Amino acid sequence: MKKLLLTLDYELFGDGSGDVFKHIVEPTNSILEVAERYGAKITVFFEVVEYWRLKQQWESGNHMGYDNNPVEAMEKQVVDMIRRGHDVQLHFHPQWVDAKWVDDHWEVDYKNWRLSDFNSSIMTLKQLISKGKHTLEGIIQPHFPAYECYALRAGGYNAQPSEAIVEALRECGMRVDTSIVPGAIEQGALSIYDYSTSPSDMGKWFVDEKLEEPCKENTDIIELPIVSFPIVRLFKFMSITRIKSIMLNHKSAQASFTAKTSSGGTRGGIIRKISFFFKKEFQTWDYCLFPCWMHRYFLHKISKQKSRDIFVLIGHPKSLVSIKNLEFMLKVVKDKMKFAILSDLT
Ligand SMILES: [Zn+2]
Repeated sequence: MKKLLLTLDYELFGDGSGDVFKHIVEPTNSILEVAERYGAKITVFFEVVEYWRLKQQWESGNHMGYDNNPVEAMEKQVVDMIRRGHDVQLHFHPQWVDAKWVDDHWEVDYKNWRLSDFNSSIMTLKQLISKGKHTLEGIIQPHFPAYECYALRAGGYNAQPSEAIVEALRECGMRVDTSIVPGAIEQGALSIYDYSTSPSDMGKWFVDEKLEEPCKENTDIIELPIVSFPIVRLFKFMSITRIKSIMLNHKSAQASFTAKTSSGGTRGGIIRKISFFFKKEFQTWDYCLFPCWMHRYFLHKISKQKSRDIFVLIGHPKSLVSIKNLEFMLKVVKDKMKFAILSDLT
């Protein structure tokens, strides 16, 4: 039976904007509620660095415009998730490591966008991962002593070059990564990776030195790649829900869209923009963004992967555009496949 892992990157916008309640806690509650109706479990990837910054500000007396404590709300929600049988693991957006609260907003450090070339005077990569693991365990273990943080996802899939990440994972006792999107290539101003040689028909593989390269022998680290298939970009952007999401995501989504359509040459240019839409791009299976027909298309694609039994989907509470589309997918999948948690897959 095919197993689906529904992961959810639990975070504000990459540029530091957004509201913990409106963009994280409330949509996560809606997702959990509908998932539970269909017996599905959610695995949250908790962006721990913004949590540190929010906590620091709140405790120093700056309420950042919040009436209620956002840090406490996040803590309560993840503990409650464990109670309800979901899972919580580690996610990093290193631009938050040196983020500063200026006037009335966050200014993130764009020089530290990629976990893969993390470079900070504050801490090493190993210290970052270790502190992240201990932060999550510190929140959850007082309530659930058996809880363990052992899986990681790099922010924006920026896990290449991956050798240093693999080394740090080993040193911190982490056993799972789920940052790789087989087939995807990104050469933007911020995100840079090329996963075109990673196999897009494997549900998991063992990692030796590089996350993106399957190792033939069994090792102590497993990669669970995110499901991805090539689709014509026009279809991706055509859907109303997607456009609505770009509107909702305001600045940060528009900036990434502009970076993609204008990368690698003169900015703008109508031909470049039009041809952009007719090229294929590997697309992750995003259960917060997809319209029903794209869920159907991806279900069709995975049904053809006869020998593969693990499929990692991704979503973001901040980009939840239609709970109905998610419910459609859950309804179709229920009874035919199993909704898994990490411990079922590793
Ligand atoms: Zn993220």
